Amino acid sequence: MPFTKLGLAPELLRAIEAEGYMKPTPIQTGAIPVVLAKKDLLAGAQTGTGKTAAFALPVLQILSRKAKQVGHSVRVPSALVLAPTRELAAQVCDSFVSYGKHLSLNSVPIFGGVSINPQIKQFRKGVDIVVATPGRLLDHLNQGTVNLKHIEILILDEADRMLDMGFIRDIRKIMSRLPKKRQNLLFSATYTDDVRKLADDILNKPSIVEVARRSTAAESVMQKVYYCDKTAKKELLADLIEEGEWYQVLVFARTKHGSDRLAKQLRGFGIEADAIHGNKSQGARTRTLGAFKSGDLRVLVATDIAARGIDIENLPYVLNYELPNVAEDYVHRIGRTGRAGEEGVAISLVAPEERKSLKGIEKLLQKSLEVEQTPAHYNREPAIPEKKKQSTSRSRRNHYRGSENGGKQRNGNTGAPSKNGYRGGPRKSGNR
Ligand code: AMP
Repeated sequence: MPFTKLGLAPELLRAIEAEGYMKPTPIQTGAIPVVLAKKDLLAGAQTGTGKTAAFALPVLQILSRKAKQVGHSVRVPSALVLAPTRELAAQVCDSFVSYGKHLSLNSVPIFGGVSINPQIKQFRKGVDIVVATPGRLLDHLNQGTVNLKHIEILILDEADRMLDMGFIRDIRKIMSRLPKKRQNLLFSATYTDDVRKLADDILNKPSIVEVARRSTAAESVMQKVYYCDKTAKKELLADLIEEGEWYQVLVFARTKHGSDRLAKQLRGFGIEADAIHGNKSQGARTRTLGAFKSGDLRVLVATDIAARGIDIENLPYVLNYELPNVAEDYVHRIGRTGRAGEEGVAISLVAPEERKSLKGIEKLLQKSLEVEQTPAHYNREPAIPEKKKQSTSRSRRNHYRGSENGGKQRNGNTGAPSKNGYRGGPRKSGNR
């Protein structure tokens, strides 16, 4: 079905055309008519499916009609989007601005880590759409600097993440300040019991639209595993980047401290790298992300939370320096690459102690990941006591030196990884 059949206004169709979207994604086809009909919506869609446009386009249309009816003097927020992270709030707000560029509606991003005063000024000037993280929005409510009494549409974006991050109390406090009669849209990648409970509480006879989970949809991502000792990971990573001439790599590390350390080690190898995580100031995060997006920064090391919802078009490489504890996070991570039909490569460096996590991921994906032959020198003997060593070293060696790769010994047995092994990924010309 083309966009023109979805009942969207010509101003929005022009903006969609400028974005280069040829046809709506499944979540857009399902959700847009429901939202335009002013019904509540429960949408199961992960980032990368086009979910932002699925709510932003119809919300813009509803509000622009209203603005036409009442004239332009009304400028208290009519729509509120709650999002789990600053980056996602900024990104979603950018989408509202892009899709609404031929309409006269104001969208503002509201999140912490930056001065509150410019946000207060924006509210005073007049705002139609607020895209906020819960904490900073509550600050505004407590200070009386925002008026949410005229909200007509509430959107909870990545509801499962907001609940994971402990925002439920903030969300409930915010909802208690909204008018009872309103339209509610809830987007979530997963349906946990908590999400179901929240949906039951806030949605009124919702239409349900679900699109294929990323674990089934990510066929455009080439996924590979290198078995490697923990201590050798940084060198293997540096070699993969250099030899493969990877130019834009998002690397996932588990901890904030670990991200900083890895970025520093990569810089020590002469590779431009920086880290983003929750301890960095908002200014630093925005700058680093900007440099990475523009291709000035070759490697971005991020924790799961910092990377959540980041949308970088056609990101070619995602690397799991450490596997996540929760298998679903793997799917979220690799969702950064191979987006909207583009090809991507997702590589995981798996240490012996991470084999259990890998099994969990493979169970979720319902397939075994392809194992690339790791050159032997990356599988140094781990420092284990002599006694234990006698009983485990042989099996450990066999285990992690490519003997379990189903015969796929692509790179030969020795030396640096051959380029063929991991260079098959997408290339972006002139981006270094
Ligand atoms: P989202 O799931 O909202 O994070 O969107 C993921 C990416 O898909 C973004 O880069 C959007 O610009 C892009 N996108 C959204 N809708 C479409 C569409 N209909 N056709 C092509 N790309 C789209």
